[in-house]
Amino acid sequence: MLDILARDPATRARAGLLHTAHGTVRTPAFVPLATKATVKGLLGPEVADLGYDMVLGNTFHLFLDPGPERIAGFGGLHDFMGWERPIITDSGGFQVFSMGHGTVADEIKGSRKHADRLGKVVSIGDDGVRFRSYLDGSDKFMAPETSMEIQTRLGSDIALVFDECTPFHVDRDYTERSTERTHRWLERCLAWHGEHGAPGQLVYGISQGGVYEDLRKQSTEVIAASGTPGVAIGGSLGAEKAQMYEVVDWATSVLGGEHEAKPRHLLGIGEIDDLVRGVELGIDSFDCAMPTRLGRHGVALVPEPAKRWRVDLTAGRFKDDHGPIMDECPCPACALGLSRGYVRYLVHSRELTGMRLLTLHNLAFVQRVMADLRGAILAGTLAETARALRDGAPPGTAAPPVGAARRSARVVVDEL
Ligand SMILES: [Zn+2]
Repeated sequence: MLDILARDPATRARAGLLHTAHGTVRTPAFVPLATKATVKGLLGPEVADLGYDMVLGNTFHLFLDPGPERIAGFGGLHDFMGWERPIITDSGGFQVFSMGHGTVADEIKGSRKHADRLGKVVSIGDDGVRFRSYLDGSDKFMAPETSMEIQTRLGSDIALVFDECTPFHVDRDYTERSTERTHRWLERCLAWHGEHGAPGQLVYGISQGGVYEDLRKQSTEVIAASGTPGVAIGGSLGAEKAQMYEVVDWATSVLGGEHEAKPRHLLGIGEIDDLVRGVELGIDSFDCAMPTRLGRHGVALVPEPAKRWRVDLTAGRFKDDHGPIMDECPCPACALGLSRGYVRYLVHSRELTGMRLLTLHNLAFVQRVMADLRGAILAGTLAETARALRDGAPPGTAAPPVGAARRSARVVVDEL
C-alpha cells in the first residue's frame, strides 16, 4: 500500500507514496476536510492546484443528507463532487459518539459547540447505535455493517472502520470495555467488507485505548494484526500536547517490523507543531478542520509559533493595514496583492470572498509545511527543517526550499 521512499534515521519519519484506486498520495500528507462533499468554498481543481492529493468526506453527514443511494446514483462521491483524486471517508463513529458523549468528546478535537447542534443518541449497544437525525429528528441506526455499506456506496478510496470514539473523561475500565467493543466491531467491518466491499477500497482500522499505555499499544497491535491495510489513530489523545505526543508515540512504536508498510493516519490533528511532531513520530497522513475553519472565521496562518501560527484579521488594528496576509506568501490569495485591510473588511461584511481567500491561504500554508517536511525526509535534512518550522521559518523557505522539495518529490514519482 505504502511505498516508503525514505526514512529519517533519527526519528520514525518516513516519506512515501500511498497507492489508491484514484491515484497516489504523496506522504506525509495533510488531508483537507470535504465534510459535506466539498472543501468549503473551494472547487476541486483549486484544492488540487494547492498540491493536495486527497480529501476527507464525512460518512455521518452524507448518510443523513443526501444519502448514499443518491450519491451512488451520481456515480459515487468522486463524480458527485467533481474530485478525481483519492478520497478517504471517516466511519461516522466520531460524530455518532459525539452526540452520545456530548461536549467532552468534542473537547478532544476542539469543537465545543458542535455537539449541541447534532441530534440525540437513543441507545448504544453492541449491535450498533440508534440516534435521531439532527436534520429532521428521524430515527437512524448505524452499525459497523451500515457504516461500511455507506462508504462502499460512496466509493471512497479509503474507508475507516466504525469505532466507538472513547471520550477523554472516562476511566480506564470504561476505556477498556469500549476498546474491546471497537475491536469486535473491527471484525464485523472487515467481515462485511470482505464479502460486499469494493475490491479497490482500502479499509483502515482505528486504534483506541485512550491515554492508557497498555490499552493503546494493545489496541494498535490488534488493529495491525487484523489484516487491515492501514491504521488510523483515534479517540482520546489526552488533555495537552505532551500527552498527545506520548499517546501517538505508543501507537506508532508497535507499528514497525512486519507492519511497517501499513500507512498510519492521525485523526483530527493538524496544528502546525502537531504536524511536525506527528511526522517525526511516523504519521503518514493527517486530517483536521483547523485551516479551513480558521479561514472562515477570519484567522490566517502565519509563521509565528508564539501566536500558535495565527493572526486574527478581524481585529480592528488591521482596518488600515495595507500589507499582505503574509509577506512573500506564494498562495493564490496573497499572489493577488490583496491587503489585510481588504480581507478584514470582507470577513467583517461576511462576504464569501473573504472566507475563500483565507481558506486558500491557510490550506496553501499547511501544504507548504507538509511539502517541506516531505522534501526534508527525502533529502535527509528533517532535523534542520523541523527546527526551522518550529522556530517560525515561513514554510517553503525552511530547508530545503519548497521548490526543491516539490521537484525532488516529483522526480521520485516520475522514476517509479
Ligand atoms: Zn497567502
